[in-house]
Amino acid sequence: MASRIVILSGTGMGHLIPLVEFSDRLVRLGLSVTLVTIGPPSAAQKAILDSLPDSITAVSLPPVSLDDLPGDVRPQVATFLTVSRCLPSLRRLLQELTSADGDGSKTGRLCGLVVDLFGTDAFDVAEELGVPCYMFFPSSSMSLSLFLHMPELHVSVPCEYKDMVNPVSLPGCIPVRGTDLADPFQDRTKDAYKWVLHHATRYRRAEGIFLNSFEDLEPSSIKSLTDPTSKPPVVYPVGPLVREGERASSDDPTGCLKWLDQQPRGSVLYICFGSVVSLGIDQLTELAAGLEMSGQRFLWVVKVPNSNDPFDFPPKGFVERIGGRGLIVLSWAPQTQVLGHASTGGFMSHCGWNSTLESVANGVPLIAWPLYAEQKMNAVMLVGDVKIAIRPTVGEDGVVRREEVSRIVRALMEGEEGMGVRGRVKELQEGAKKALSEGGSSCKALTEGALKLGKNNNIAA
Ligand code: UDP
Repeated sequence: MASRIVILSGTGMGHLIPLVEFSDRLVRLGLSVTLVTIGPPSAAQKAILDSLPDSITAVSLPPVSLDDLPGDVRPQVATFLTVSRCLPSLRRLLQELTSADGDGSKTGRLCGLVVDLFGTDAFDVAEELGVPCYMFFPSSSMSLSLFLHMPELHVSVPCEYKDMVNPVSLPGCIPVRGTDLADPFQDRTKDAYKWVLHHATRYRRAEGIFLNSFEDLEPSSIKSLTDPTSKPPVVYPVGPLVREGERASSDDPTGCLKWLDQQPRGSVLYICFGSVVSLGIDQLTELAAGLEMSGQRFLWVVKVPNSNDPFDFPPKGFVERIGGRGLIVLSWAPQTQVLGHASTGGFMSHCGWNSTLESVANGVPLIAWPLYAEQKMNAVMLVGDVKIAIRPTVGEDGVVRREEVSRIVRALMEGEEGMGVRGRVKELQEGAKKALSEGGSSCKALTEGALKLGKNNNIAA
């Protein structure tokens, strides 16, 4: 029986999707995987978990209660607490896998626990049972570097990061202003910051960190993290692990792929701001007007905001005026298929890391429109360093005006700036393919990491 690895996913699609890909790669390398989620999965998560191959066992831990938290608790803090409160049931699962089947004859010998970025509380449980701990980091090398250096920054920076005069310089990374650091860094007095610091301090306890990035995308930052003389843990850059955009008829309930089939090659701007957040009504209205002004074709995934505002979307007459030039899809599109479609020529994105990697893997240039979490850092890097994205200017009220929307859309789809970033992203697409193919840097790192993961001599057989 193969060595078994337990992988604990944080809540949300942005965590689950890359972990499914990671699990799949480990299985192909001969390991058995138990993929653990917390609480009943959402409909979108269920669709993914239901389509797992038999070699990956999905386990859903009982939901945890968050009833004692104040009503205005930040979603991030709720996420942190969800993971820490699932530990008793995770302990039971790991105990079952280590003791009931100690010789590994039925389930495979348990060799490691892998958690993602806010799952380090599970290290205590695993270490107690002699199970080695690893991490899968689902964002950029630059973000990983920020987390690994956070304990030092916490001591050396005397003020709020947003008030720093000089930008933060992480080894091998483009300097980043304090205001562009990930959200929890924006207020050091808040619980979210304390939680992130708590996790970041524990990162170095991991035996290894699997990083969803690749050498051509972030060469100098990855070089610094993987330098043999750098402090442990070992970092394995194994990306880009993204879902493959293989088309099945069941994947197109909205008809957007069929609509794309009818559009000219490279002519459509795909617009999607991830699986979590929606834009406010003012921004939605400006975006709609700007798209109309731009004259470009677009496929727009719209999430309706959760507010009590009187909401009239799309604006009156918009659909008629746009005619066949644009398509609006509510809530969800099969993103990897859309990005892999020949008609798609650009991606207006919130720069979530999975969306970014999916764009790179499909050679699609971006309009960077960061919203939350570490997306501003991603945008700074994609525009200023990697040069595969262009970015609109945001008004003082935080809204991108229609004229600016129109300008940036035309710049990407038909301007010189667009040509530059398109050429560069095509190069990176090739780099990504090479990294993942046999003998490529990510393929080698994954094999090396999986070998280490599959060998555990701590647990008594
Ligand atoms: N996604 C999708 N269709 C949608 C919106 C999102 O398939 O309409 C997928 C997308 O392909 C990506 C993930 O959901 O794999 C979103 O992850 P990301 O890290 O980009 O952003 P998050 O949703 O975590 O903010």
